[in-house]
Amino acid sequence: MAICYLGIGSNLGNRRKNIKLAIKKISALKENRIIKEARLFETLPVGGPSGQPDYLNTALKIKTNIPPLTLLKKLKKIEIEMGRVPSVRFGPRIIDLDILLYGDKVINSRKLTIPHPRMFKRDFVLKPLKEVL
Ligand code: ADP
Ligand code: MG
Repeated sequence: MAICYLGIGSNLGNRRKNIKLAIKKISALKENRIIKEARLFETLPVGGPSGQPDYLNTALKIKTNIPPLTLLKKLKKIEIEMGRVPSVRFGPRIIDLDILLYGDKVINSRKLTIPHPRMFKRDFVLKPLKEVL
């Protein structure tokens, strides 16, 4: 089992409901258990098109037996199930599920970078993450 931290964000539709549903779907994954859930943080968008709505962000601490790349695939599947459509980079989204840390693994592949490359500069990631560390 590995301890893993996930970042969650939403800035379209009922953001709170989107985040709660995503958490429910994550907790329903086999070999995956939620240990801690951060509060919801209202944050300003960083990058992407100007004028996009504000975000709600949170973070999870999970215990998982799902390998990193498989976990990424499952998270992407949840995003699509929830209606996320491909858009511009850093553009608005119903739900965004990111792997922030996965045990002490360092991964630099085309599809997956862990620790998440942009997390250290982003308050909207770090604030909720701090609550569940
Ligand atoms: P972002 O979250 O950076 O705004 P996306 O959610 O559209 O952008 O993700 C773009 C790609 O980032 C994904 O298709 C995925 O392959 C890649 N990626 C690389 N590292 C990670 C990670 N640690 N967690 C989630 N996605 C990642
Ligand atoms: Mg993402």
